[in-house]
Amino acid sequence: MSREDCIFCKIATGEITSQRVFEDDICVAFNDTSPQAPTHILIIPREHFDSLDAATTEHKDTLGQMLLTAAEIAREKGFAKDGYRVVINTNADGGQTVFHTHIHLLGGRPFIFPPG
Ligand code: AMP
Ligand code: ZN
Repeated sequence: MSREDCIFCKIATGEITSQRVFEDDICVAFNDTSPQAPTHILIIPREHFDSLDAATTEHKDTLGQMLLTAAEIAREKGFAKDGYRVVINTNADGGQTVFHTHIHLLGGRPFIFPPG
């Protein structure tokens, strides 16, 4: 389930500290240490899978829960009506640097599209 050398697995178990904003039995959400917006939160599954590219139908409920968690946090933080950005960087060209699937929730400023 969790990988010994995975930083986000260690954050999920609490072995590495993070600023948690939400958790349930499926996922954990915490502040990104290098924020790209006034609010920048990562939502990770407790179960390790490397990337969206590694996801299977077994991860359908988990991915759904992660997205709904992002939407709920955005409402709680008060920027849902103004708008926000959710991002899943996937593999090298997608800019993924941590290979434990995660959703970026960015809010508190306008975003342009397409991103760089
Ligand atoms: P990505 O480039 O999509 O794989 O995103 C990885 C994100 O994890 C980056 O935005 C990093 O700033 C963030 N990050 C890396 N280590 C930590 C950590 N220990 N706590 C919180 N965020 C982290
Ligand atoms: Zn992991």
